[in-house]
Amino acid sequence: MPFPSLVREDVLVKSGRCCCVCHNFSGRSINVHHIIQEADGGPNTLENAIALCLSCHAEAGHFNSRHPLGTKYSPKELRRHRDVWWAAIESGRVIPPYNVQILWKRTHLSQALHTYRLIFQFANGDHLVTDWKLHILFPAKVTVRTQNLSDLDYVRIEGRKYSRYEVTGGKIFPGEEAELVGLSLTFAEYDVDDELYEADRDGKMTFRWILYSSSSTPLEGFNEWRNMHEF
Ligand SMILES: [Zn+2]
Repeated sequence: MPFPSLVREDVLVKSGRCCCVCHNFSGRSINVHHIIQEADGGPNTLENAIALCLSCHAEAGHFNSRHPLGTKYSPKELRRHRDVWWAAIESGRVIPPYNVQILWKRTHLSQALHTYRLIFQFANGDHLVTDWKLHILFPAKVTVRTQNLSDLDYVRIEGRKYSRYEVTGGKIFPGEEAELVGLSLTFAEYDVDDELYEADRDGKMTFRWILYSSSSTPLEGFNEWRNMHEF
């Protein structure tokens, strides 16, 4: 017996069609999996259901205890993965990985100085965004040049100082991928030199962002600074 359609629907909505283990957005490839298999008496209830992508589904389903390779996914562990992910989605503060991509392009290269342009892309799934506002926060030590971004102020987060910039925009249609900051008229370029590289010796510097949009509660995230350059 498969899960009743209402249970499936609950699982898909609660998971945002993301895999509860690896958190990848899986769209139509998502599976609603029995945590305890039906053959072992697992019921067709929400409590026994988890959304998994194809590869995690294969991983969770195929474990031969007579030839153990790797580490088995236990029902208890799967339930914990699921509950953590559902709580994260419900809080609205999770970063659905399919929504936001942070990239950069190097625009200047010398031995002493690299310059990079930030690329911030947003895909809005099935929703319509009528307006949005993005805050990007660079470590205060970083030299940043911007075009069409407002230079707001300095903020402190977890004892670290950041310079904060804002960009606002209008509609993003369902299924559209939008570049909120990038290669066109709205951009932020940042420099990395020896001194800055040294300042991040402990690898604790971060780049942060918060996206406010009409289609969801604010999304926020960060990247380790060392992933923002190749200096
Ligand atoms: Zn997965």
